[in-house]
Amino acid sequence: MTFENLLSEIKKILKSVDSLKSLNEKKLEILSGKWSILNKLTKELSEKGEGERKNLGIEINKLKDEVEQLITKKEQELFHKEDTKEEWFDATLPVKKTKIGHLSPDTQVIRMMNEFFKYHGYSIAEGPDIELDLYNFEKTNLPKDHPARDLQDTIYIESPEILLRTHTSSVETRILSTHKPPLRFVVPGVSFRNEIINPSNHAIFQQYQGVCVDENISMANLKATLEEFAKFLYGEDTKTRFRTKYYPEVEPGAGMDILCTFCKGEGCRICKMRGWIEILGSGMIHRNLLEKCGLDYHKWSGFAFGMGLDRIIMTKFNISDIRSLHGGSLVFVE
Ligand SMILES: [Zn+2]
Repeated sequence: MTFENLLSEIKKILKSVDSLKSLNEKKLEILSGKWSILNKLTKELSEKGEGERKNLGIEINKLKDEVEQLITKKEQELFHKEDTKEEWFDATLPVKKTKIGHLSPDTQVIRMMNEFFKYHGYSIAEGPDIELDLYNFEKTNLPKDHPARDLQDTIYIESPEILLRTHTSSVETRILSTHKPPLRFVVPGVSFRNEIINPSNHAIFQQYQGVCVDENISMANLKATLEEFAKFLYGEDTKTRFRTKYYPEVEPGAGMDILCTFCKGEGCRICKMRGWIEILGSGMIHRNLLEKCGLDYHKWSGFAFGMGLDRIIMTKFNISDIRSLHGGSLVFVE
C-alpha cells in the first residue's frame, strides 16, 4: 500500500465517524491496530537499505504528523458538536453556591473557648512544641528523680534535654519565668506522648490550659472561674463538683466534674455509671513552681487548670475516629 492510498483510506474512516466514542475506537485502530502506519511502515523500513531507509523514515514521520493533525481536528469538531447538542445554557440563572471549606473543628472549639477567657481578661499565649526539659519537667515541679516523671511516656528529640512537650504547662513556666504578675492567660495547643495510635488514642493531644497569678488568689477564684466556664460550655444549669486530685504542678489539686448531662446523675454508659464526668484538672500553683520561675510565693499566688480537647471536639462534631482529627480529609456533620 502506498502512502497516498493509506492516507485516503484513513480520511475515509475519519469521515464516517460521528461520535467521540467511535472516534476513540478508530483512533486506536489507526495508531496502533489494523491501520497502524507505524506498525506497517516500520516493518518495511527494517527491510530496506541504509540510504532508502533514511528517506523513508522522513516520509513516515511526515505522514504520521498529518494523520495526527487530522484526528485532532476531527476530535475538536465532534467535541464542539456534542458539547452544544444537549446542554442549554441560561446566563441569567443565579450562580450555584459551592462550599470551599471550613475551619477545622479544633480551631472552632478553641476560638469559642478563647472568647470566654478574653472576656474575663485573659490573654492567649503560645509556646514551642519542641521544648527543653527545663520548662517541661524541671520547672513544673517534676525534677529528674520525681516518680511522676515515669508516668510520662515522653518523645525525646535529643535525650535527655530536648523533647516534644508532654503538656502545655511548659508554656506556663516559660511565661512565669519571663513576665511579672499579675498575669492571666490561656494556652491552646498540642502536646505529645509516646502512645500507640488507634481510633481512640493518639500521640498528639489538643490541650487547653489556663493560668492566673496575682496577689491573694485563692481556691475561691479557681472555683468561681471554672464553674462559670463549665456553664459557658455545657449550659446555665450545669452542676459541678470538685474532687481532691494529685498533679505535681499544683497543691492542692482538684479535678472538676460535671453532672452527667445524659442521665442527670442516675448513672449511664456515657458516664460509666458514675453519674459525673470529669472535664478538667486544676489546682493552686505549687510554690515550688513559682519559686523555680523566680516568683516570690509569699507575695504571689495563683491557680492553673488544664483539659484535653479531643473528646469535646469529637462529641461536638460527631467524629468517631480520633485519627481523623489530624488527617487531611476530615468530614463532619454540621
Ligand atoms: Zn450518665
